[in-house]
Amino acid sequence: MKISVDDDQCGATAQCFAVDEELFPLDGDGYSAVGEGREVPAGKEGLAQVGVDACPMAALYVNED
Ligand code: SF4
Repeated sequence: MKISVDDDQCGATAQCFAVDEELFPLDGDGYSAVGEGREVPAGKEGLAQVGVDACPMAALYVNED
């Protein structure tokens, strides 16, 4: 499972970061630093989906394989 952020949609709300700080890191300005195709560690898939769904800007998404 991989996750990505659409930088143009991120509004620096930190809702993803609140779910899991390691899965959803922020940059120095509070915007998502998830990047493109960030690998989700085994066993963290459910939490990753919660974080993706928590984004109020719909900026986060799960990559299709
Ligand atoms: S929850 Fe969404 S809008 Fe907020 S920091 Fe994370 S990716 Fe950006």
